[in-house]
Amino acid sequence: MTSNLLKQAAAFIKTEDRFLITTHVNPDGDAMGSSLALGEILKMIGKEVVYYCDSPVPDQYLFLPGVDQFTRNFADIEPFNVVVVIDCGDLERLGDISKKIGETETVLNIDHHMTNNIPGELRLVDANACAAAEIVYRLIKELEQPITHAVALNLYTAILTDTGSFRFSNTNRAAFKMCEELVELGVVPQLVAQQVYGTYSEGRLRLLTEVLNSLEISPNKIFAMVTVTHAMMTKTRTGPGDINGFVDYPRFIKGTEFAALAREINEKKIHVSLRSKGKVDVSEIAERFGGGGHFTASGFNMEGTLESVKTHLFQIADSVEKSSQL
Ligand code: 5GP
Ligand code: MN
Repeated sequence: MTSNLLKQAAAFIKTEDRFLITTHVNPDGDAMGSSLALGEILKMIGKEVVYYCDSPVPDQYLFLPGVDQFTRNFADIEPFNVVVVIDCGDLERLGDISKKIGETETVLNIDHHMTNNIPGELRLVDANACAAAEIVYRLIKELEQPITHAVALNLYTAILTDTGSFRFSNTNRAAFKMCEELVELGVVPQLVAQQVYGTYSEGRLRLLTEVLNSLEISPNKIFAMVTVTHAMMTKTRTGPGDINGFVDYPRFIKGTEFAALAREINEKKIHVSLRSKGKVDVSEIAERFGGGGHFTASGFNMEGTLESVKTHLFQIADSVEKSSQL
């Protein structure tokens, strides 16, 4: 992503009045934090901003400044002629709002996925960015706006969560540089960690025990996976937002190279989250099933049952070893 593109995006923003900011379904910290940070800046320069996300805000992100402005109701956001799509590489992952996107005049696309099929000319897409928040940060600097405490908290949370607390392969120098500045501006890391990682509901923890019980490991030990059924969520009174981060557990096992979490969306449709320790390109696996993502974190939706998905994934695990450089 060139500095010229940033300049173009900043110039464009200055010419428009009203912005819809939207992000992917089952939002994570980057989706929420990056959207709110940019929205706050746009308001500071006198713009009108509305926020849409197709899924409810997960409990652990309810502390983010401004998060109550997110709506799931089209009547709250229309009319709009500029859409800022943040942290989403796949139109389908926007949910219902994707149907409206062709109708709008301009799309500003801010993303850090390797594959990105969001339409539009203004593409601030950089797969080397640690999070969408890194691109939002650069845009804020280009707009020459000060980072308020609310913006700092949103950006910090986005970077913290998308880098897996500075553990994942997308953790780069910029992540530390930005966070140094954000802490200088008043963000208290312990307080953010407490909100994000220390506010599980009882149901969420009980769901985790069920999910861990479903653990299966491939015969060659390269692959491990867990599953989440509807029954588990009903029993523990939880929703999809409560599953965030659970896919990391099968990856924790010594010797596994990649891992999956398969969740029932309904009787016929499964969402699969894939994670890699860095040798297996899980985005390539996700693409085979019509999904996508990053080298070490990707996902896809598949028609079928949990059993059929498992069969596919274990076959892939078997072939990875046979074909492989591991
Ligand atoms: P998660 O496992 O948290 O659902 O998603 C991890 C990453 O995989 C996301 O950041 C996104 O890049 C990608 N991803 C997840 N689900 C899908 C999907 O259905 N389609 C595409 N293209 N990417 C997905
Ligand atoms: Mn995200």
